Amino acid sequence: MLDNLEKFCNLLRDTAEINIDPLQRGGILTPEARAALLEWGDGYSVCDFCAGRLDRIKTPPVEEFVHDVLPEFLGTDEVRVTHGAREGKFAAMHALCEKGDWVVMDGNAHYTSVLAAERAGLRIEYAPSSKEPDYAISAEGFIEAIERAYEQKGNVSLAVLTYPDGNYGNLPDVKAIAYACHDYSVPLLLNGAYSIGRMPVNARELGADIIIGSGHKSMAASGPVGVLGASEEYAKPIFRISSTKKNKEVELLGCTVRGAPLLTLMASFPAVVERVRHWPEEVDKARWFSAEMEKLGMIQQGERPHNHDLMFFLAENLYDISQRAKKGRYFLYRDLKERGICGIKPGLTRQFKLSTFGLGRVELEKVLQAFSEIIESYRPT
Ligand SMILES: *Cc1c(COP(=O)(O)O)cnc(C)c1O
Repeated sequence: MLDNLEKFCNLLRDTAEINIDPLQRGGILTPEARAALLEWGDGYSVCDFCAGRLDRIKTPPVEEFVHDVLPEFLGTDEVRVTHGAREGKFAAMHALCEKGDWVVMDGNAHYTSVLAAERAGLRIEYAPSSKEPDYAISAEGFIEAIERAYEQKGNVSLAVLTYPDGNYGNLPDVKAIAYACHDYSVPLLLNGAYSIGRMPVNARELGADIIIGSGHKSMAASGPVGVLGASEEYAKPIFRISSTKKNKEVELLGCTVRGAPLLTLMASFPAVVERVRHWPEEVDKARWFSAEMEKLGMIQQGERPHNHDLMFFLAENLYDISQRAKKGRYFLYRDLKERGICGIKPGLTRQFKLSTFGLGRVELEKVLQAFSEIIESYRPT
């Protein structure tokens, strides 16, 4: 029965002692979530005691999680669980915008924001980022983008802000951008895929009308799972009930996450709340790490001082090495792996992203030591 078990265990994953992949740092399961994954792995496992609505299930305590715990955590009136950040964005766009409307988004937006808009039949106007090395997003950029959209005729029905973006880890001034959007009566959707579950984010305090998060990106869940929160005004259309199927919410196709991913999100949640409290330490660590990397000759792009664990580096020195190293540009991946470090994409040298989230100083010292040794080992004699 377990004949093909070896196909799925310890062979296919690219793991090392220390993983600095930004995509994966925040999604590592807690021991509780790992246990929940096994316990709830069977299909439709959460539906034992369901009376027709996923978010009203009392055993396990989904109802309390969705209707009390998450709204308080996110600072919104209503929350639902989705299959991920992208599904949340699409549901909101599909519910709030008419085909042909404009959606305004920052130039650092994730590709899934673009696809969600395309799938919903929307046109996009961008608030571009400033040039290198900052790639900053401003409220003025949003105002100009809204004005440009209106000049081209049609309605601007939503603004999307990436907070932070997945390239540079920049955290724009949400309050100022929300204020600017509201001046034009445009609601703001905050894409917190890289923030919710890592750092404190409160939609109400920030002025965001809709907020989305990613369980597998930043909430220590196996996924695919995400959260979608909205203020009462926008929750009504987004979570509207079917006209024919009793109690089923149309944008969610009735029920979203129907098993283990939801339970891993719930099982990790207390630990997630706790780690969010320690966010200032994460920022300190990221800044220290960035400064040490720069001493080794790499240059951090994006906000400085940096405010997030996701960081983008330019590394001309590593690129130079790739020109003469055995295996060329794959040397960095190989040499880091030999030192127990993974998470930088194979083949990248000149620029790459990494994350320090949840790693201790000792582990980060090892990463810095590895970079230092690698650079040293290729120094021409
Ligand atoms: C990872 C990421 C997403 C996609 O998240 P999913 O939950 O996998 O849909 C969206 N936006 C940003 C900024 C991301 O970094």
